Amino acid sequence: QVGVIAVVGRPNVGKSTLVNRILGRRAAVVEDTPGVTRDRVSYDAEWAGTDFKLVDTGGWEADVEGIASAIASQAQVAVRLADAVIFVVDGQIGMTDTDERIVNMLRAAGKPVTLAVNKVDDAQSEYLTAEFWKLGLGEPYGISAMHGRGVGELLDAALDSL
Ligand code: GDP
Ligand code: MG
Repeated sequence: QVGVIAVVGRPNVGKSTLVNRILGRRAAVVEDTPGVTRDRVSYDAEWAGTDFKLVDTGGWEADVEGIASAIASQAQVAVRLADAVIFVVDGQIGMTDTDERIVNMLRAAGKPVTLAVNKVDDAQSEYLTAEFWKLGLGEPYGISAMHGRGVGELLDAALDSL
């Protein structure tokens, strides 16, 4: 049985871009349609010889209940079904209240979490990761889902946590 990794985080932090980056050419991720709520999307993925399933939780973002509660509930379902979590935050925006709420939910779920600070597009921007140590999730991995920077190290850590 292969491990399941859920990708969670606020809207627009780059979850789908990261999933697409990890899947590469082997599968296309259909862009989320704003305002449409759909089921979790699970993809077969592989990294460094390990097969796993990757769950993009983006489909719940535009729920009528309001952004924050929609994220919380969709993330909860995905996390419950997952063996490990990649929690994505936006390094360019910095830490938000919603990030902290999601962390509380993740802590309660008790699944291993690897923290990805996305939109760290170059080495000079690595300092953006520093404030996220405060979340108490261990090392914040600075990545650029868009350019692929740091994604290998992130995956090594996430797969190690399985
Ligand atoms: P999601 O809502 O979390 O799934 O986020 P998306 O993957 O849809 O990305 C949201 C926006 O952030 C899009 O405009 C992306 O092009 C942009 N984005 C995603 N990853 C990066 C990145 O590594 N660097 C930068 N600068 N922008 C990114
Ligand atoms: Mg998305």
